[in-house]
Amino acid sequence: MNICWICGREATTREHRVKASDLRSIFGVVTQQSPLYTKQDGTVKILQSVKSNFAKYSAKICHHCNTTQTQKYDEAWSELADYLLKNQSIIGSCKTINAGKIFSCDFKQGILYCHLYLVKAFGCKIIDDKVPFDLSGFAECILSGKAHPDLYFSVDNKIKLNNKNYAATSPIQVIQYGCPKKVVYATWYYIIGKVPIKILYYVNTPPISVHGHMIHPRIGKKFLRLA
Ligand SMILES: [Zn+2]
Repeated sequence: MNICWICGREATTREHRVKASDLRSIFGVVTQQSPLYTKQDGTVKILQSVKSNFAKYSAKICHHCNTTQTQKYDEAWSELADYLLKNQSIIGSCKTINAGKIFSCDFKQGILYCHLYLVKAFGCKIIDDKVPFDLSGFAECILSGKAHPDLYFSVDNKIKLNNKNYAATSPIQVIQYGCPKKVVYATWYYIIGKVPIKILYYVNTPPISVHGHMIHPRIGKKFLRLA
C-alpha cells in the first residue's frame, strides 16, 4: 500500500509537477489533437491531457490531502500564477508591482496559502528526486495551516526566459551539512511561461545579497519585487 507522506492514510492520487490550472493558462486545452510534449529521464513523453500521469510526480498522496486539505492552497496559487502570467512582460523591467489585489482572500492569507501549496509541491519533489529529507515538518505545516519557518519563494529576476509557451520544474540542488548529514539548503525552480519562481529551503534567514528578496508569510509586505 502506498502511504500518504502528509497524513499517513492510503495514498491514491498524485500532485501535478506544474499545476493543471497553470498548464491550462499557458497552453489552453490539451487534447489528443493538441498535445503537450515533456522530457523525462531522457525520453520524450506525449501528454494528451493535463491529467496525464506524465504531468504528475510519482510520489503519491491521499485523496483528502490532495483535495479538501489543500484546496485553499491550490486556489491561492492559481490566483498568484494567473497574476504573474498576466504581468510576465514586465518581469525584469525594474518595476515593483502592487500585489494587494492578487487574491480573492486577504493578501497575507493568500501568501500563506501559496507558501503551503509550495510546501506540498516541494515534499512531492523531494520524494521524486530521492533527497534524504525528513518531511514530517512539511506535513505538519500542511495539516495545521501554519507556515514553515525555513521555506521561501520569489520571482527570480536573475533568470531571463524568452518563451511564453513553456512550463517546467528544475531538479533540486541540495547542500547537506553536519554529522550525521542533514539538508540545510535546497532550491529548485517552478517555471511558468517567462516566470521563474525560485523555491528555497534555507535554515536561517537567506541573505538578500545572494538570494534577493525572498517571500515568506512572516514578512507582510504588500508587493512583489519582479525586478
Ligand atoms: Zn493524506
